Amino acid sequence: MPGEGYAAIFQAIHREYDSEGSQAFRRLAERNLTSQELLDEKTPEALNSGNIVLSSYISKSVGIAGIEPVMLHELGHACSMIRMQNWAMDGQKNNPSHALTSGLAPAERMLRALRATKWLDSARDRCNPELELPEAYFDFWQAVGETRGFAGCLYQLAADNQKQLIDRACPGLCPGHYLEESVGIAFSLLLGDLKGQADSVFPNTCDHVRDGQHPMVSDVADCLMQNSPRFRARMGAAYHCQAKFTLPRNVSTVSP
Ligand SMILES: [Zn+2]
Repeated sequence: MPGEGYAAIFQAIHREYDSEGSQAFRRLAERNLTSQELLDEKTPEALNSGNIVLSSYISKSVGIAGIEPVMLHELGHACSMIRMQNWAMDGQKNNPSHALTSGLAPAERMLRALRATKWLDSARDRCNPELELPEAYFDFWQAVGETRGFAGCLYQLAADNQKQLIDRACPGLCPGHYLEESVGIAFSLLLGDLKGQADSVFPNTCDHVRDGQHPMVSDVADCLMQNSPRFRARMGAAYHCQAKFTLPRNVSTVSP
């Protein structure tokens, strides 16, 4: 089981998809619930609101100045969790309230819902070195205004680590965490103070090397520079350098 907080969303998915053609959703929900949780009708049908614990990430020496980058990083995780839960519940063809908020054709909504449900399912397996990387981050990054190329660049980072194709690949890689942590790092870079000190991005921009769960901040910054017009504009404004050149490296992408 992926964790206590996931039971409510899988119970909600199990109840939502009770029609013909929804078996894939029910199967994914069932493998994440105990037999008792499947039977438990008292559990409210509610999304997981979650919580963020900051104290372990704020050092005494940095003090209050360290809060903002940590908050931005953690809000990135909150954003992906909320999006995935909402999308997982948004696949029923005949649910008019969902159709109003979604803007997608019913068939596309159903596919996005399935990708989000697979993302939720993959939480139980994030440290499996062979994990099939969940495709839902393509939906996520495009929904928050980034490019498909940026999402593909982050997938490539995770896949290269999985295949040990990079210099000094990390032992004990958790590919699922790797993709999710790149969300936290990118949010900190996209929203934080780029003119600040190295520790204005969390984890620290300069001295944070990759570990089993986090890509290097510089790798995520590179993906943003190559693929995010918004980030390039922020960098231009922060450092007064105009991008009058074409970036030479063609970042390859992984298609879902
Ligand atoms: Zn994180």
